[in-house]
Amino acid sequence: MTLIHEHVFVRSPELDVNFPHPEWDEAATVERAVAGFEELHALGVRTVVDLTVLGLGRDVNLVARVAERVPINLVASTGYYTGSGLALEFQFRGPGRLIDGPDPLVEYFIADIEKGIGGTNIRAGMLKVMTAEDGISDDVARVMTAAAIAHQQTGVAISTHSHPGTRNGLDQQVFLRERGVALERVIIGHSGDTEDLDYLRALMDNGSTIGMDRFGMEHVLPDDRRVATVLALLDLGYADRMVLSHDAAFFSRVTPPSWRARNVPNWQMENISRRIVPMLVRGGASDEALHQMLVTNPRRLLTPTQPGAGPA
Ligand SMILES: [Zn+2]
Repeated sequence: MTLIHEHVFVRSPELDVNFPHPEWDEAATVERAVAGFEELHALGVRTVVDLTVLGLGRDVNLVARVAERVPINLVASTGYYTGSGLALEFQFRGPGRLIDGPDPLVEYFIADIEKGIGGTNIRAGMLKVMTAEDGISDDVARVMTAAAIAHQQTGVAISTHSHPGTRNGLDQQVFLRERGVALERVIIGHSGDTEDLDYLRALMDNGSTIGMDRFGMEHVLPDDRRVATVLALLDLGYADRMVLSHDAAFFSRVTPPSWRARNVPNWQMENISRRIVPMLVRGGASDEALHQMLVTNPRRLLTPTQPGAGPA
């Protein structure tokens, strides 16, 4: 069983150095994560994909300290989470920039996948890109282009953060397909934030898998409505195109643990095992459908395709 869109620690390195967050205690947070993953293992989870990339405070050495102590496979990822805030280096380095040359984003993403992240031998197993409400900005286009190139060279799948309210998963599909990415290798993330079945079916009919990946984020949409959407799509035969996850974290500076405990107590990585699977079963989901969404589909997406295979 795989949770394909989670975060171990979401941090903000520059803020953390200058204005340490009062709830961040490194040793205690590492212990909390270790205990959490041990509990997940007891619930049957075997693999968790950490989509914490650049822009979200990725620190692979810190995550490795957790990974080496737990029986779960933690999968690292590469990419860049930003709407229009790429680090200054990228404004000045790249094709047609002051320091002219190849886009360093491409080099970084590929090195993360082929060599290892941050001087370690821990290689990324997923590419992550994002498109916010304001759509595909210049920076987003640059990140997505680099991800498409890295995907074609390595065969590693692309997972997105989308904004279903503006139906921009469809824009992501057009953009990536135009750059030679087979949409079967793309997960349109956060799709579970909407109940617009026509939109969700269009994404899947175009070939992608949709991430019903925010169970527990009840401040955006309550879980019972998220479950109803999954059940409706299962009835329509889409078990092979959905993956389930939480987008949760053991620490996030964006929504710190005390805020989560008060406002969204179900937003944690045990939620699917403890609450959502039973709700889906009560709603009529079959064992086969659950296995497909939690095991078969993630395995397919985490298996790199032949590099350069191009659109199917
Ligand atoms: Zn996320």
